[in-house]
Amino acid sequence: MKITEIEATPLRIPNVSSKANDGAQETIIVKIHTDAGITGIGEVDASPYMVKAVLEAPSSHNWSLSFEDLLIGENPLDVERLWDKMYQGTMYTGRRGLVIHAIGAVDFALWDIAGQALGRPVYELMGGPRREAVIPYASVHPAIATLPETERRTHELMERVLEMGYRAVKLQLVYGDIYTDADIVRLVRMARQTVGDQMTFMIDVGYRWTDSKAAIQTVRQLEDCNLYFVETPLRMDDLDGYARLAEAVTTRIAAAELLASRWEALDLMDRGKVDVIQPDVSRAGGLTECLRIAKLADDRGLLCIPHAWKSGLTVAAEIHLSAAACNVPLIEFMVPELWPSIIRSELVEPEFTPRNGVIDLPKASGLGVRLNEDIARKLAWPAAQKTAT
Ligand SMILES: [Mg+2]
Repeated sequence: MKITEIEATPLRIPNVSSKANDGAQETIIVKIHTDAGITGIGEVDASPYMVKAVLEAPSSHNWSLSFEDLLIGENPLDVERLWDKMYQGTMYTGRRGLVIHAIGAVDFALWDIAGQALGRPVYELMGGPRREAVIPYASVHPAIATLPETERRTHELMERVLEMGYRAVKLQLVYGDIYTDADIVRLVRMARQTVGDQMTFMIDVGYRWTDSKAAIQTVRQLEDCNLYFVETPLRMDDLDGYARLAEAVTTRIAAAELLASRWEALDLMDRGKVDVIQPDVSRAGGLTECLRIAKLADDRGLLCIPHAWKSGLTVAAEIHLSAAACNVPLIEFMVPELWPSIIRSELVEPEFTPRNGVIDLPKASGLGVRLNEDIARKLAWPAAQKTAT
């Protein structure tokens, strides 16, 4: 079997808001076609137009090769070898950021092809399932409003998540200077009271603090709330600040959603001393790289809990990662009922629906989802853009 074509299509909902804190307003679908008639699909959480440019740029020289030169004619079953070939062949322009994100989309698609070709779900090819079901944590974000209104919405969202049967929930408190640290403490206490003691409960404060002392003071005030982790308390490149915070509190400190490659993850684990590494399967370099990151975390006795805010295709990839790695106890799950984007809720078939708070492992071959081609056609950019204006 040989790779014959790489196809990259940006998708975009008609009314994208640049103010929305929402990763599912657009995506890019990458299809890898083969001469065996099998097509694999992948997705990236980065600007779809920039990723398309990366995937379609011609070769510049031997250290800046095109994806076409790197992949056409290759055996798609050589997934890990091809990851290394793409990394090595793009090192002049790549190594981090967009090029690693783009490699990740190709990597998803290669795993999908391998699974389909062998008639097995991807987690079986990644070392075999270590659990029968995966636990999604509901990721919720009360929109910015007055403080009493935010309190009301937070309470309401927590009650809904409880009613829906989730076993774990993350409250996103990404408010910058709008609320004080005391407001944040109050919101977290109220949310913990609403969900009760049994729920696994964590918060994401979206790079709130610029100095580690401020973060330490607030996280210490929240120690009795039994938070499973506090996500992205400090700016992403303040690795020494992360280390000071992680050493000063007992609550787990988590980060990594922005990272690309295991080398950035190693810096965050070894210098930043985080307790939970959170690579995004659609940003860090795909399933191959996330499995490597999970293993590096396991060597250090750390948890790996992937970040995800895209379509059901990324959810599928998270499920395979959690199934195959021993230290991935939870996956991030943007609850479709709470996020109106059609990309999040309908782009693939089947969409994964938790029952009793868990998602059973998919049994279908490959990633286990198909693209809803009608919706993909409708949202294809720039066509969708033209329709909207
Ligand atoms: Mg986050």
